[in-house]
Amino acid sequence: MDNPLLEMSGLPPFSRIAPDQVEPAVDHLLAACRTRIRELTDRAAPPTWESFIEPLEEVDDRLNRAWSPVGHLNAVMNSDELRAAYNACLPKLSEYGTEVGHNRALFEGYRAVASQEHLDASQRKLLENGLRDFHLSGVDLPEDKKARYKEISQELSKLTSKFDENLLDATNAWSKQVQSEGALAGLPDSALALAKQAAEERGLEGWVLTLDFPSYLPVMTYANDRELRREVYRAYCTRASDQGPNAGDWDNTRVMDRILQLRHELAGLLDFASYAERSLATKMARTTDEVMGFLNDLAERSVVQARRELDELAQFAREQHGHEGLEPWDLAYYSEKLRQHRHRITQEELRPYFPIPRVLDGMFAVVQRLFGIRIREVQGVETWHPTVRFFEIRDEAGGLRGQFYLDPYARQKKRGGAWMDVCTNRFHTSRCDQIPVAYLVCNFTPPVGERPSLLTHDEVQTLFHEFGHGLHHMLTKVDYPAVAGISGVPWDAVELPSQFMENWCWEREALDLISGHVDTGEPIPDELYRRMRAAKNFQSGMQMVRQLEFAIFDFRLHREYDPERGGRIYEILDQVREQVAVMKPPAFNRFAHGFSHIFSGGYAAGYYSYKWAEVLSADAFSLFEERGLFDPDGGRAFRENILERGGSAEAMDLYVGFRGREPTIDALLRHSGIAA
Ligand SMILES: [Zn+2]
Repeated sequence: MDNPLLEMSGLPPFSRIAPDQVEPAVDHLLAACRTRIRELTDRAAPPTWESFIEPLEEVDDRLNRAWSPVGHLNAVMNSDELRAAYNACLPKLSEYGTEVGHNRALFEGYRAVASQEHLDASQRKLLENGLRDFHLSGVDLPEDKKARYKEISQELSKLTSKFDENLLDATNAWSKQVQSEGALAGLPDSALALAKQAAEERGLEGWVLTLDFPSYLPVMTYANDRELRREVYRAYCTRASDQGPNAGDWDNTRVMDRILQLRHELAGLLDFASYAERSLATKMARTTDEVMGFLNDLAERSVVQARRELDELAQFAREQHGHEGLEPWDLAYYSEKLRQHRHRITQEELRPYFPIPRVLDGMFAVVQRLFGIRIREVQGVETWHPTVRFFEIRDEAGGLRGQFYLDPYARQKKRGGAWMDVCTNRFHTSRCDQIPVAYLVCNFTPPVGERPSLLTHDEVQTLFHEFGHGLHHMLTKVDYPAVAGISGVPWDAVELPSQFMENWCWEREALDLISGHVDTGEPIPDELYRRMRAAKNFQSGMQMVRQLEFAIFDFRLHREYDPERGGRIYEILDQVREQVAVMKPPAFNRFAHGFSHIFSGGYAAGYYSYKWAEVLSADAFSLFEERGLFDPDGGRAFRENILERGGSAEAMDLYVGFRGREPTIDALLRHSGIAA
């Protein structure tokens, strides 16, 4: 078959990949994967690492290398044809994934190899992860339980889509037409334009407000009309529930109860005491006690400051605006007023100091000093768009460690946001020597004329964040794709390198490397730098307890589920709010009915991961606060223990290897300006 997706050497030939080749290539590869797996599992000879695991890794790698550019192009150069081809392949790939997870013969093969001697630590870890995932998919259950497992999985997948559908329908069902611009006083032009457009789309006069976030947030933050804010707040936080303007329509109450019940039963089938325990089977945190202890500790030490911040806000609203008695629909509004009053700093003010060429050179200089690596641009490599650039990373001895594409600018047919994605994984055996390649994708404003693109400070942080993921992927020294780079790294640890890198964007010594005025080259003035630092921790206590409220609620909900007593969703939420919330929401608030992260997304009993990763990255950075921003020993320790070892060992062991001890919450509290 003449198909560039089946050519397996080197970088993807982007210009020759056409939508009509996608499905035939995937069909061909999936058939080849199935044949190869059958050959390997049918063999009479006992499986070994070389005869069984390595060929399986090759099977996976071949499929991933073909699929990676397809998924990538679908995200950055979308077209109707490509999207159709991509979507046609998704169910086939997911069916194959399920089939592999339930393949008993494969599982037995892994088990046989795992019992052999002469395996190194990363080989053992790969096998351990593999056996764990087989177990979690129910492959080793007795037949009756396996059948039940399958029923539960299917019902859960229907229920979680139902949850999303209800939420979406309820969100779309509410809108409010406003006839006079005066009623929207306070809203910025961008929000007014959006509301105008929403009215036009509906063939209505005036402006239309909706419950979509880009409409909701500006109303809560800027609308002067308090009654309007209250009305929109009430509609928003009663979506898909028994309360509010559409009470009882698209009500998620029973869906949520059933989801919790089934998750609990599923965990029980796999011999876990709760779904929270099941969630931790694949995470860095070891026990449910450890997670609760960590969250409670953070809560206890932040809540005092959060209360103080709320008092300050109430005082400000009273003294400056004559407003008595803050309600939930006043919070964002007066917070924004206070923020402007106190800090007067805008993203636009910093933009001239961050021209892209300067930021990139500076960022490469930072990682060169920290990790002893050299980055240089390579010309003439085929990409998918003329603005895309290609770089390589070499170590001090000159050895090629990784390569990456950088696609910096927003354009049509490109998905929003920023991300790092894997093009190829490191794979090193007697038969192959493949280096890791990454895609770094951002959506910065493109340059105009001769003037370079200027970044906001938020965008600079985004770049450092994604580059941190990229370094984790590219500096790996692990030989097998399943545990190399970010593969096999637990969810609650994978943000460590990315958030760690963000810290450099706040330090004077690093800022001087990555910034310089676009016209004069001058560094950021001290006065501006001071204001930028001061604004960083505005209301950090209140933000902290809000995230903790979600995290503790999610974890307790899944940990304390008792079939006799049902979900107790609002009973638990009330207790959590009693513990951490600084402002009690009104009785009609049905926040949980729209909490899709945990009911339909992947965050069930995992919302704590956000804070967990922040603790890790803050604690990691504190080493450089102690020893100096570019401490070479610290940089080497981070590179050797974290960046180079990926998922090849327990995340906590790697962390201790780097830091010399387990993480503590102190640095995060200090960085957030919370005195503890
Ligand atoms: Zn990230």
